[in-house]
Amino acid sequence: MTNNSVATAPTFFAAALLEWYPRHRRDLPWRHTRDPYAIWLSEVILQQTRVKQGLPYYLDFISSYPTVQDLAAAPEDEVLRHWQGLGYYSRARNMHHTAQQVVREYGGQFPTTYAGLLQLRGVGQYTAAAIASFAFDEQVAVLDGNVFRVLARVFGLTQDIAVPASRKVFQQLADTHIPADQPAEFNQAIMEFGAIQCTPAKPDCLFCPLQSQCFAFQHGMVSELPVKSKAKAARTRHFHYLVLRHADTVYMRKRGPKDIWEGLYDFHLQETDTAELSATELLTAVDALGGQLDTSRAEEPTQALRHVLSHQKVEAKFHPVWLREPLPAQALAAAGLSAFSRSQAEELPKPILIANYINKSIR
Ligand code: SF4
Repeated sequence: MTNNSVATAPTFFAAALLEWYPRHRRDLPWRHTRDPYAIWLSEVILQQTRVKQGLPYYLDFISSYPTVQDLAAAPEDEVLRHWQGLGYYSRARNMHHTAQQVVREYGGQFPTTYAGLLQLRGVGQYTAAAIASFAFDEQVAVLDGNVFRVLARVFGLTQDIAVPASRKVFQQLADTHIPADQPAEFNQAIMEFGAIQCTPAKPDCLFCPLQSQCFAFQHGMVSELPVKSKAKAARTRHFHYLVLRHADTVYMRKRGPKDIWEGLYDFHLQETDTAELSATELLTAVDALGGQLDTSRAEEPTQALRHVLSHQKVEAKFHPVWLREPLPAQALAAAGLSAFSRSQAEELPKPILIANYINKSIR
């Protein structure tokens, strides 16, 4: 990061972006605030989420929890329920813990510097730079996917952006261009430019103010930059959900740590190496829970539903299992299951796959 606070003439790059931005920017609610809490909230929600998808979540969070104190005081289940559908649930849990940290250790006030913000749990370089510049006018350049792309193309950087060591090169370059007197505007401008002009596919080069100085455009390398090596192929996991029901009760459990969807609710799970769960395997699993099938109410399992996460694919099948009697309390405790009515199940925080199943198939 640069500490140079002497105002110098903006570089061609900064000047073009600052001229472009006011004419093209989208009117988004978090651009009308200097409140570090609201800015932080928007940044956490927008990480790996498109603006269109994230906007309703931001509006919901800011109205449900107008201050960091409100968020800190909320029960985790409630926060996860508000987050439901955004994915990356560890971000929601981290966000909740960070709010509690701000209240507990900082008297409810966010640190006012980049270095101070980095001390907060779950706040990385990008988020710290965004808050420090947008809320406190600190001259620190943000680097997100949009910024990497714009810099790589305009300046012809060929370093692999999937490799952490490349970050330094991009950071140094961004730091040489961020103006001391308009750091927030510059950061907003470069991110917005990447989001709507210099897009991953089909950037609008024809009407681009940087066209004559853009390395990628001038060298016919727009589709080759930025260089990004492919992530490892995601592994596939086969989930067989036993949707155990008796009368108006459905049995669900809260997922534990060290796996996806920590803290969210799903059904009793049999994970297998194959796409099928045989009738014998299903019976054995119900037996192990001390349950007895109500054979008069047999239902077919669903087709496998695919859910793609960042590092794995889940192929989930739901097997409705009607029971003759409620499950014994001991078996429930051993399997981590609890009994819920449909409306209670509706209110629990759940992976979107589970929420969709309940909406569609549980009456
Ligand atoms: S000319 Fe094309 S590739 Fe270069 S900055 Fe403009 S939009 Fe991006």
